[in-house]
Amino acid sequence: MTETTEKINVLGLTATELTDLVGRWGGKPFRARQLMRWLHQRSAGSFDVMTDLARDFRRQLEQHCCIVAPPVQTEQFSSDGTRKWLFDVGNNNAVEAVFIPEDDRGTLCISSQAGCTVACPFCSTGYQGFNRNLSAAEIVGQLWHAKRVLEANLDSARIAGTAASEPPGRVITNVVFMGMGEPLLNYDNVLAAVRILLDDNAYGLSRRRVTVSTSGVVPFIDRLAQDCPVALAVSLHAPNDTLRDRLVPLNRKYPLKELLDACNRYLQHAPRDFITFEYIMLDGVNDTDQHARELIQIARQVRCKYNLIPFNPFPQSGLRRSSAARVRLFSQILVDAGIVTTVRKTRGDDIAAACGQLAGEVKDRTRIEERLPHRATIPIKQEHA
Ligand code: SAH
Ligand code: SF4
Repeated sequence: MTETTEKINVLGLTATELTDLVGRWGGKPFRARQLMRWLHQRSAGSFDVMTDLARDFRRQLEQHCCIVAPPVQTEQFSSDGTRKWLFDVGNNNAVEAVFIPEDDRGTLCISSQAGCTVACPFCSTGYQGFNRNLSAAEIVGQLWHAKRVLEANLDSARIAGTAASEPPGRVITNVVFMGMGEPLLNYDNVLAAVRILLDDNAYGLSRRRVTVSTSGVVPFIDRLAQDCPVALAVSLHAPNDTLRDRLVPLNRKYPLKELLDACNRYLQHAPRDFITFEYIMLDGVNDTDQHARELIQIARQVRCKYNLIPFNPFPQSGLRRSSAARVRLFSQILVDAGIVTTVRKTRGDDIAAACGQLAGEVKDRTRIEERLPHRATIPIKQEHA
């Protein structure tokens, strides 16, 4: 074992955990708050820059702790300003984070697992199988790194006073758990990371600006409602159990009725008064008028918004994106029924950074092909004559 792996990575410690740690050395809680601000607000990468901490305290930290984000394997820029980092998480596994700048906000999409066990047939992460959960430090480390890089760009743009050759720096205002992995199947580490994202001495994000996206892990939707309710997005993708069993295999365990009931329970605690239902538009699979009408029935049961997602194709899926005209008609049926419906803009297409195209590599430890023969059974629309 290297020295680093034996040390505690402070990037993943919540305020309570840091206070406990500092307390064991006889330090007061305000020391933990100071440390948190250095780490997450001032993006310190070593303890020796924390000059207002007592020398003894810094020595303790250096001896027992480290500040380590997963190393960056590659960084890519898209022509639309989207940036993507591929992080090495060891043993030939890599995960991704994507920054998407918009006029009024900057959203960072982060990963929670190396791979995913849910294995949705339209998702490239699902195709790779599952390797392991990311630690809280590896989850927060993605944000820590992105913030550092984006702020450094901001500074250099300020100094240059003109458009720099690097893309301009941007501020991260929102974080979404929509990268690789199912966040609610890595609950403890995701919860710790969310607490750090919200902490005023760390990233200080409001609950509305942190979104956990889930394929529908019902018991953990309830846990999150109790522990730390943030904005919730649910990957619906199908309006009935028969189709959802195939598109989101977890539906066999937690069918729609249970999922919708959990959404209603969540809404009693949520920072927003609606759930965002994500619905990927797959040509001939889930995009007919009848499917839209079924979605109207669902919206009568849960206060929700629909976010229609153009499918980002990848070779093995055998699936196709619905045409723009189909998406418009589908969306119109929902809008005519009075349901707020948005169509997601695809971003970062030129660097394969859009949702579900995240191309981090994982070494599958679950022998996914053997577990999931259902993959071959998704009905694919026949070509029109
Ligand atoms: N596991 C969680 C979060 C990560 S996936 C979940 O499923 O919600 C984040 C979003 O990307 C989900 O809505 C997912 O359905 C969507 N997605 C996955 N593959 C996609 C693809 N190929 N094209 C477009 N969106 C995709
Ligand atoms: Fe996992 Fe989400 Fe991809 Fe489904 S869509 S395989 S739950 S990451």
